Amino acid sequence: MNIGVPRETAAGERRVALVPDAAAALVKSGLEVLLERGAGEGAFHADAAYEQGGARIVPDAGALFDQADIVLKVQKPTLAEVDRLREGAVLVSFLQALTSPELIARLAARRITSFGMEGIPRISRAQKMDALSSQANIAGYKAVLIAAETLAKFFPMLMTAAGTVFAARVLVIGAGVAGLQAIATARRLGAQVWGYDVRPVVKEQVESLGAKFLAFDLGVADAEDKGGYAKALTADASRRQQEMLAEKTKDFDVVVTTALVPGRPAPRLVTRETVAGMRSGSVIVDLAAEAGGNCELTEPDQVVVRHGVTIHGPTNLPATMPVHASQLYARNVTELLRELVKNGALALDFDDEVVKGACVTHGGAVVNEAVKAAGKPA
Ligand code: NAD
Repeated sequence: MNIGVPRETAAGERRVALVPDAAAALVKSGLEVLLERGAGEGAFHADAAYEQGGARIVPDAGALFDQADIVLKVQKPTLAEVDRLREGAVLVSFLQALTSPELIARLAARRITSFGMEGIPRISRAQKMDALSSQANIAGYKAVLIAAETLAKFFPMLMTAAGTVFAARVLVIGAGVAGLQAIATARRLGAQVWGYDVRPVVKEQVESLGAKFLAFDLGVADAEDKGGYAKALTADASRRQQEMLAEKTKDFDVVVTTALVPGRPAPRLVTRETVAGMRSGSVIVDLAAEAGGNCELTEPDQVVVRHGVTIHGPTNLPATMPVHASQLYARNVTELLRELVKNGALALDFDDEVVKGACVTHGGAVVNEAVKAAGKPA
């Protein structure tokens, strides 16, 4: 079997699905690796580095899609890219399968065996394949650097001959993978940090990073589903949450929001009125911008100033750190491939939790339970 790695085509995407070391390891394991010319350029990997490890460079995407048995990508493919895949080929990529019905229908129609990296279950055995985590970690780190760069204040407390400067106060809303990294990064820069999440189980994790946990009772008994993800709140609980956050955010210089609920629009946590109540000069970095934003005034991929508050809505921070993002992603997909390919042939065990979670289409049909459920009218 051969593995094909095309150049990413989404605007601003600089990651590549395989870095040279990972490609060389696959070649060593007996697989052929094809790389579209220049696919690694955005992450500073020259074609020659892949060739040294035994990969073969093909001139363009057409030649790659014509030959590849297994295509590895970062961003979900366009419909045109799906049409170029060989019928029956395997695709491993982020697919955003829960919210991309047209793409999924096309993958099934073309009899593609597709795996969505977002569907890898959050279990210990699959940690090394967990691309949501590897990329969210980067986003959390970078969000704080953006906030620090924008804030017209120091992050750390300083006692200087010219006077004392108080530490910046940072609130991180949503303490999943991105949020915990944001908390750790803001702490390292010396800020005073608070974390908040609707799942009370994360309190300990927030505190172990040296931050304080902002607690308020929404009267929600089971905030977490069996996969460890947050559930959507009722309209009533959501309104109460907005009110409580409006009260609290007034005290902060920086608010980083990371709250997501899989397959749903991002919960609205910071309203227009909340922003208006914040101090002039404060900064919001909304990592949920791609899913509609946690802040009502966020504009995706824009920086806007509203009521004196600067609001960033980046949708793809991992692409701004393509070297490490690609290195980690390449490890994630390589580990998944190890599970899927045995003795040079595709060997899918649909009873395996990883295959069950990540495989979206196979044999001309949608096989993933969560994706099937998302496609049904509520
Ligand atoms: P995510 O990106 O889906 O959401 C980010 C955070 O937002 C979550 O912590 C969520 O609880 C929070 N959130 C959602 N709605 C909210 C609201 N209304 N108000 C406040 N916060 C809200 O989450 P994630 O980072 O992908 O992590 C999901 C889960 O998976 C977590 O329990 C995490 O610890 C777990 N996880 C487990 C493993 C593993 O064991 N292999 C690896 C990674 C993550």
